[in-house]
Amino acid sequence: MAPQRFDLTGRIALVTGSSRGIGLALARGLGEAGARILLNARDAARTEAAAQALRDDGLDALACPFDVTDPQEVADGLANCEQLMGPLDILINNAGIQRRGPLLDMPEETWAEVLDTNLTAVFRVGREAARRMASRKRGKIINIASLMSEVARPGVAPYAAAKGGVRLLTRAMCVEWAPLGINVNAIGPGYFATELNADLVADATFDAWIRARTPAGRWGKVDELVGAAVFLASDAASFVHGQVLYVDGGVLAGL
Ligand code: NDP
Repeated sequence: MAPQRFDLTGRIALVTGSSRGIGLALARGLGEAGARILLNARDAARTEAAAQALRDDGLDALACPFDVTDPQEVADGLANCEQLMGPLDILINNAGIQRRGPLLDMPEETWAEVLDTNLTAVFRVGREAARRMASRKRGKIINIASLMSEVARPGVAPYAAAKGGVRLLTRAMCVEWAPLGINVNAIGPGYFATELNADLVADATFDAWIRARTPAGRWGKVDELVGAAVFLASDAASFVHGQVLYVDGGVLAGL
């Protein structure tokens, strides 16, 4: 049982991109803190399987698949979520993609795809949720940023540009929506071994480099993001607005 300030009992939470990886871990974590969970991704079968797995573990979870890059699907999806479960208290904007390649050869379509999924969709889903939350004068929005909101590496320019944008979009949302009763913050994960990073995990040189570069000496485990999400989604964070909480094993603390 979570201490009262961190208790999410009965709160309704939508986590985008939660059929696997970080999103699924966050959804499960919020569920274990008492929240009722709406899982989202494009692959409806995989989203339903994830929801079933949470239900099998005694959590209250339903699938609400839609594509965060499609404005009409987002509008219909949010309406569908609220019809399925009730008024949304918490949104985690987590859906994201990675497309690696040198910037000199970066195709326009790849740039646009990453920016649309990782940045514009945060605005799109966030705006849709905030309109609903504002009418009730309460809500929590947590955007998933990245180490790449602060620093870049060769080969991930669109991703870094998008995640840098998420950091400032979080602040822009904060200054407009805090007066409406909505807390907007972000979590900046370091390196976590998920499908998004499968190429890096399989690369022995990168694996050795990231272990050496991370003060904690290892990759993060997706469960280790849950504490930050529960905190930011809870009453304990009622006066926390516009922050990016980095959960990175200390990477950003040193050179
Ligand atoms: P995964 O690739 O493991 O999972 C991504 C999830 O997003 C899937 O559920 C995927 O399902 C969904 N998704 C992708 N595109 C869309 C879309 N257009 N509409 C709806 N859902 C979509 O990634 P991670 O769990 O690693 O990453 C999750 C978030 O965390 C991302 O924002 C990522 O940038 C961020 N992050 C990850 C880090 C890491 O080390 N892994 C580090 C820092 C940040 P489907 O394909 O079926 O739609």
